[in-house]
Amino acid sequence: MFVLVLNAGSSSLKFNLFDMANETSIAEGIAERIGLAEANLACSIAGEKRKEALSLPSHREALQAILDRLHANVLHDTPIHAVGHRVVHGGPKYGDSVLVTNEVLQDIDHFAMYAPLHNPANALGIRTAMAAFPDVPHVAVFDTAFHHHIPDHARTYGIPYEMSQKYGIRRYGFHGTSHAFVAARTAILLCRPLRSLKVITCHIGNGTSICAVGQGKSMDTSMGMTPLQGVIMGTRCGTIDPSVVEMLMEYEHLDYEGITNLLNKKSGLLGISGVSSDFREIELAADGGNDRARLARDLLTYNVRQYIGAYATVLDGVDAITFTAGIGTHSTFVRAKVCSKLGFLGVKLDPEANEHGTGERIISTPDSRVVVTVVPTNEELMIARETVR
Ligand code: AMP
Repeated sequence: MFVLVLNAGSSSLKFNLFDMANETSIAEGIAERIGLAEANLACSIAGEKRKEALSLPSHREALQAILDRLHANVLHDTPIHAVGHRVVHGGPKYGDSVLVTNEVLQDIDHFAMYAPLHNPANALGIRTAMAAFPDVPHVAVFDTAFHHHIPDHARTYGIPYEMSQKYGIRRYGFHGTSHAFVAARTAILLCRPLRSLKVITCHIGNGTSICAVGQGKSMDTSMGMTPLQGVIMGTRCGTIDPSVVEMLMEYEHLDYEGITNLLNKKSGLLGISGVSSDFREIELAADGGNDRARLARDLLTYNVRQYIGAYATVLDGVDAITFTAGIGTHSTFVRAKVCSKLGFLGVKLDPEANEHGTGERIISTPDSRVVVTVVPTNEELMIARETVR
């Protein structure tokens, strides 16, 4: 069975084609700058990489360009059997993946109230793909779904209850497919059933979220109603005192759009360091003696450690801590720094295993009470599996 996984952004369309007979990706890529000058399509098809400049006035042309290349190179006359779509926000309604219907599409439009930057683009991607493939099933896989059952006390904000109810204001959490995937892989690495484990999953990338996974379920997570809350991120501020918003709006003369832009696009690692949102550049600058880059790096690791401490109490113990996403998978420094003050929990990092080795692995010592793992995430495969399910 061939499953096409799509992840549509406002000016981009990421794709991944899976042969689910053996769960392998046979082609992947991204169309960027859709609707803008100098659009391009980068593909890796059957191991061969290429990047082309193309005219892509809308998502429709981008999808067509992707399909042309898939049919010419790998699919030939074989049809695509189903399409899985990443959707960022499922609102209060969706706690599981769902077959897309008109009602589902309207809900995704409606939940743009919580994810104005993402849901409209996701819905556009679905509509475009449904027009191209009217006869195959389309499945929406929500970033929020894994966190749907976190307890009320973990998801309620301290605002008047009626308003929370009226507007659905609460913690939803994100990166759900990633947290679910790496928690399941961690159980396999530990040779234990996931439902018997207490795992803290640390998805540290451009966006960062930490999740307390107990009995295979999300019990709490650091992102909130939107992906702005929690740990500082590449350009997002993470948790701040809400009064800062008021003050900046008044003194910097910012309207709603201005403050949203500042907190989402100009804050976090970029805002603190003044160097970059890219962690590799932060590490270089920090190692070169840049104090603000050091501060940004220290704050990131401090925030991650704070959540691990908090979630050890949420879970009433911890069996495993898992690192994933761009920074979590690749930065030996971040993992070492985060684990350096977790000795009281029984964490003993193996410096050799942390420094060397690649891919999925255990990086704690054999006598560490808490097993520490690195698991590269694979959200696309998870979406393909959900689509098949
Ligand atoms: P993601 O959002 O998961 O793609 O992660 C992107 C982040 O991972 C960026 O901040 C990158 O700088 C960071 N990253 C990627 N590779 C490395 C690496 N080898 N060492 C440190 N950070 C990395």
